[in-house]
Amino acid sequence: MKSFKILTFGCQMNEHDSEKLAGLLKAEGYSESERLEDAGLVLLNTCSIREKAEQKFYSALGKLRELKKQNPSMKIAVSGCIAQQEGKSMLRRAPYIDILFGNQNIDKLPSLIEESAGGTAIDTRFTDGYEHTAIPASRESAVAAFVNIMYGCDNFCTYCVVPFVRGRERSRRPGDIIREVEELVKSGCREVTLLGQNVNSYGKPVITPPLSPSYLKRGMNEKNCNFPELLKEINAIDGLLRIRFVTSHPKDLSGSLIGAMANLPKVCNAIHLPLQSASDSVLGRMNRKYTFTDYMNRLGALRDAVPDLAVSTDIIAGFPGETEEDFQATISALEDIRFDGIFAFKYSNRPNTAALKLPGHLPEDVRDERLYKVLELQDKIMQEKISARIGLVEEALVEGPDKSGEMGRLTGKTRQGKIVNFEGPPELVGRLVRVKVIEGRKHSLAGVLI
Ligand code: SF4
Repeated sequence: MKSFKILTFGCQMNEHDSEKLAGLLKAEGYSESERLEDAGLVLLNTCSIREKAEQKFYSALGKLRELKKQNPSMKIAVSGCIAQQEGKSMLRRAPYIDILFGNQNIDKLPSLIEESAGGTAIDTRFTDGYEHTAIPASRESAVAAFVNIMYGCDNFCTYCVVPFVRGRERSRRPGDIIREVEELVKSGCREVTLLGQNVNSYGKPVITPPLSPSYLKRGMNEKNCNFPELLKEINAIDGLLRIRFVTSHPKDLSGSLIGAMANLPKVCNAIHLPLQSASDSVLGRMNRKYTFTDYMNRLGALRDAVPDLAVSTDIIAGFPGETEEDFQATISALEDIRFDGIFAFKYSNRPNTAALKLPGHLPEDVRDERLYKVLELQDKIMQEKISARIGLVEEALVEGPDKSGEMGRLTGKTRQGKIVNFEGPPELVGRLVRVKVIEGRKHSLAGVLI
């Protein structure tokens, strides 16, 4: 029996790529192993956005090497951003890798497995084309699904490897996205999260694979549509209950997107809006193309238009040249904005990025200390925000049994995207319910059905 195990590092884009890789392997007759030790093929889908993610990958790879010594027939495959970035040179460090392929070559996995019978199989060609959208993904959840709407990024923030490993920005055709969402809804999906590095700039340019039949059926022409127009189309799909999206670049948060979030009932009241820093000089060196005032104005307009909006963000602590004053500006911004969640990291050098050459790189202890202060403050804010929801009645979309595995325990997400666990019968999976919040935990809520 052919078996596989996938270990995924990094963002939702990678998580969804792993779902596609699992779909491909299942279509080839593989079954998924619970344990790494039992898998005939172990695939590491990697992330290179931060040094720490890269270290985690190399540590996992080292452990696999030991497993392979005990079981030489085990195949080790490496995909994702580090594979794309390092290419063949990774084999100098880890010659025991059997298969190595980049983000744009996911669909080649079956042929690479065959090829690996004769030695290491590699495909890290950078096609910048229309990739792997026809692969049937093996999704984690039947109720909530990721859907790619675009690939790559054109923004070249000076700290970021994405344009180098995922290529320039390409949008999928609206008709193809809509067809995928319609198919998902037919199979029981009730919530989609639209994925792109910068969904706000969706639609420029739309790439041109052959038109799908549903595209023609809906009478849509070949004209591009922008992101708010795409949301409107998806909002009209019968049976779909909720729409989320990630990630939004603040510079492209337009008035029409704010209008779409306010007026389209299926679009949830939650947004991930990376701030990175509240200092204009740091933002300038990051090439973020907005000032802190721009950010606050747009966020203010969004908060005015969308009641009870949940906002999460990314923060980089200790970017090159960040002064104590710059850092304090970010701390004050966190206190003022009171984000619902943050992904905070200390700055780390990434290959090919412009920030490598910036003056004023800070010592590690300064970056560590600043990161610690950000996380400490945010923990306090999040506790307060989560406690403030106790006693409220939330609408939850039921996704399945909760992690405790106890009979009769269910988990779902509120419209803000917070996890809520409660007791209830399994027939509720896939439905919207009303839950009264009785407890706020660190990363979730507990409630009772009403
Ligand atoms: S917007 Fe900036 S941080 Fe985000 S993926 Fe593009 S280059 Fe990277």
